[in-house]
Amino acid sequence: MQSITVKTSVDSYPVIVGHNVKQEIPNVLKKLSPSKVLIVTDTSIDSLYGGDIFSLVSNEWETSKYVIPSGEASKSFEMFYELHTFALEKELDRKSVIIAFGGGVVGDLTGFVAATFMRGIPFIQVPTTLLAHDSAVGGKVAINHPEGKNMIGAFYQPKAVIYDTLYLQSLPESEMRSGFAEVIKHSLIRSESLYHYLISEIKLIDDITEQHLQRMILEGIQIKADVVSKDEKELGLRAILNYGHTLGHAVEAEAGYGKLSHGDSVAIGMLFATWLSNKKLNANLPYEELKAWFKGIGFPINIPESHSTEQLINKMKKDKKTKSKQITMILLKSIGITTEEKFSDDELYSLLTEWRM
Ligand code: NAD
Ligand code: ZN
Repeated sequence: MQSITVKTSVDSYPVIVGHNVKQEIPNVLKKLSPSKVLIVTDTSIDSLYGGDIFSLVSNEWETSKYVIPSGEASKSFEMFYELHTFALEKELDRKSVIIAFGGGVVGDLTGFVAATFMRGIPFIQVPTTLLAHDSAVGGKVAINHPEGKNMIGAFYQPKAVIYDTLYLQSLPESEMRSGFAEVIKHSLIRSESLYHYLISEIKLIDDITEQHLQRMILEGIQIKADVVSKDEKELGLRAILNYGHTLGHAVEAEAGYGKLSHGDSVAIGMLFATWLSNKKLNANLPYEELKAWFKGIGFPINIPESHSTEQLINKMKKDKKTKSKQITMILLKSIGITTEEKFSDDELYSLLTEWRM
């Protein structure tokens, strides 16, 4: 078991990572001494581990559980409302604690409910996906609006993150790959040594062992936590976490949410950003090596042909993280060193066209 401390502007919280660390959940709860506990999870996770976590908690505390349907559609106003109603019916109060037991969907929705129920009650993240090494840390919680993903939300930090790698054993390969893309992103923006470790050890998703998981989760979280602690409200530095995401979000949206996973879309975005870094900054990045590695792992390495470059540029301009009329891209000077570059639509259009050829 390993632990890191994530600092926020007001306090700090522990992230505990390891095999069978779910045993730490009661210890964390003891410190919070909750009046009641509400576990929120989704249907898939509940069928695998719902009973297990419920018994861990309900032995000592009055516990209820709410199960949402699996999938992005649950990050909705309706589900947000239903959870509040359930919490009121169960008479949760300011001393109650909510446990988000699941991936990014459960974490984002539950975190937003915790942030708003009675103006904010404590919550704990118990992630069950690899992608959640990204979503469980950093304090961004949200639901979707039909006009845009993650449009309604808050910055709200958990009291603890308890990351049991046991849960990841049942994760489908496509979900593992999606999370792995974000691990790679963290290595590219901040850690050359992690990048070399990953590329030399993991040629296939099936190669990922318990030991790999622990290292990539810990280092990925450490990188995210370092960046976020310097820019909690996303005013500057935090933008570097967007590596591969400017094009990635556009590709994901253009495909239609759910058609191309977030990680697969970000992988395409990272390839373009890496190529662009070489082209624009004369960086000496191992683009061909990265491309071959991604291909072997099973990431798509091209934008689907049906996506028009013009549409993608329009979507990139609409990205809520774009501050001006120009499109801001995070690029790499070298592995681990980022920089921000602005592009006009026309310039980016021709560069993207060239890359796609
Ligand atoms: P998810 O929560 O939908 O989980 C993916 C799928 O895997 C679901 O079908 C789920 O039921 C299933 N699953 C989860 N754990 C499992 C397990 N252990 N075994 C078997 N199946 C399991 O998706 P995700 O990829 O974890 O998260 C995606 C969400 O995270 C998106 O909504 C995205 O916006 C959000 N996100 C948030 C942040 C943030 O900073 N808050 C960062 C990145 C992503
Ligand atoms: Zn992402």
